Amino acid sequence: MTLVGRSLAASMGLPPFLCGIWMILFVFLEEVGGPFEEYSLEICNWVCTAIAIVVWVLIWRRRVIWTRRARIGTILSSSLLLFVAELVPLCRDFLSKYLGERWSIGIAGAMLGLWLMFTAFFWPARTTPAEERTQAGIHCLRCGYSLRGLTTTRCPECGFEPTMEVLCAAWVTEQGP
Ligand SMILES: [Zn+2]
Repeated sequence: MTLVGRSLAASMGLPPFLCGIWMILFVFLEEVGGPFEEYSLEICNWVCTAIAIVVWVLIWRRRVIWTRRARIGTILSSSLLLFVAELVPLCRDFLSKYLGERWSIGIAGAMLGLWLMFTAFFWPARTTPAEERTQAGIHCLRCGYSLRGLTTTRCPECGFEPTMEVLCAAWVTEQGP
């Protein structure tokens, strides 16, 4: 399987994996009882949202250029998502009479889905086809951005700054004998 295919397959496994974990955890908390039973919805939503964020970042981390904007945007949006997953069930007493108790699961799930879709458009892609890289001349080892005409090895696109030795060694290897 290609690298992109692997990431896509792993991503498709995430929704059923999360549903399974949510249900197992929910049943477990109901069995344990006490304060866990009272807050089982909140705990399940929060744990599954946190797992989803971590797994998603792990699956795609090598395909994303982690610019400052991408890093800060991801941290802020995922914090907001975790906050919503926690806050929504806590409002259930206020809204449950209109919507029923289980509506909070739907909102937490929909918000998570929105966040995953948001990252697809927000995260800058790293991949550059091999021919394009060679044509671009000397380029960033991390994101493939052309370093032509620059006086330092620092990439203006992603901030990666290898030593001159590393950059030259990679360039020579890539050009072949
Ligand atoms: Zn770069």
